Amino acid sequence: MSADVETSLRAPQAYELARTALAAMETHKVWPTALNFELWVHYVAAKDSPLGAEIDQMLEANEPFTDAVGETLAAKFLPKQKLSSEILDTGDALSKELDSVTRAIVSARESSEAYDQELANASESLAGEDTGKIKSMVETLTQATQRVRQENQTLESQLADTTAEVGRLREHLEQTRREAMTDGLTGLANRKSFDEALEHACQQAEAEGGTLSLAVLDIDHFKAFNDTWGHQTGDQVLRYVASVIGRFGDAPRTAARYGGEEFALIFPGETARAALAMLEDIRLEVASRVLKRRSTNEDLGAVTLSAGLAERHAGEGPAALIERADAALYASKRGGRNRTSAADPIAAEAA
Ligand code: GH3
Ligand code: MG
Ligand code: MG
Repeated sequence: MSADVETSLRAPQAYELARTALAAMETHKVWPTALNFELWVHYVAAKDSPLGAEIDQMLEANEPFTDAVGETLAAKFLPKQKLSSEILDTGDALSKELDSVTRAIVSARESSEAYDQELANASESLAGEDTGKIKSMVETLTQATQRVRQENQTLESQLADTTAEVGRLREHLEQTRREAMTDGLTGLANRKSFDEALEHACQQAEAEGGTLSLAVLDIDHFKAFNDTWGHQTGDQVLRYVASVIGRFGDAPRTAARYGGEEFALIFPGETARAALAMLEDIRLEVASRVLKRRSTNEDLGAVTLSAGLAERHAGEGPAALIERADAALYASKRGGRNRTSAADPIAAEAA
């Protein structure tokens, strides 16, 4: 029993790996972003890999591990998609680990209690009998019981430590997962997360014969805006536009930053007509807001959005749906911008 418990108390490999990676990142002053964490987990897992060799070389040369370096290494070496599922698996492994430690302790305690009870019964029935030998035997057994109890106490305090550690690691993994799915500038879903959500929505609509609409939105003449007011002010505008779009993105919808100044909204279960009404609300709200530069309070005028909308056709996958929504967006651009177009004619509201 106690050997089993010790085995199950040992932290699983993935958990050790995550800790080692974080410690190494701290030592080398690597900013703990999701991407860097992913790279360093791979690094500590296999230092003799090509990725390991490159990082070692950098460390020897004392080169700073900047975000740009991280992105280059990731593009070169990281298997796409793989780590996020590994992270989830780690969480699962940890909770299984915890379960097995808990079960081991409960059964250790139960068997010691039963043993205790038997001893109590034995000493009761021996009371009065003047047999020194039996008495000393009982004393020995009592001491043995106390030792078992102490062992259990140790196990319990180890369990408490493990529980706290698992909680901390879980939180960290959850945050890493969230970061990996979120666009850093706007807080909306990022492109990866958008791709997954649209794939899932298409499959679900196909399976259930349900409706699904997709909108893509693009800021008009944004290059000129950046050229006039600077990239930083441009970023503020991106965040503002994202905040308006995000208000329409509650689950089951997904609001995403699709590219530089392009956004997307997935509308599971909603028709193009319903989505059109929301796009118009977004477009009008953005166009009517006079923007001010935060630092100087200068008047920046308003920015406008063009949008394209497509309702999924039966059998249609993500790529074809995006293509039709994009074509509708370009129709909006060609038609003069600051407007929404739909890929298919939208029937007038039934009387
Ligand atoms: P159009 O109306 O046809 O969409 O014109 P546009 O100028 O918006 O389109 P274009 O695709 O030529 O330029 C997009 C610009 O978006 C280029 C770049 O300056 C800007 N941009 C892309 N990503 C970012 C970003 O993260 N921050 C800022 N500030 N600007 C960005
Ligand atoms: Mg644009
Ligand atoms: Mg664009």
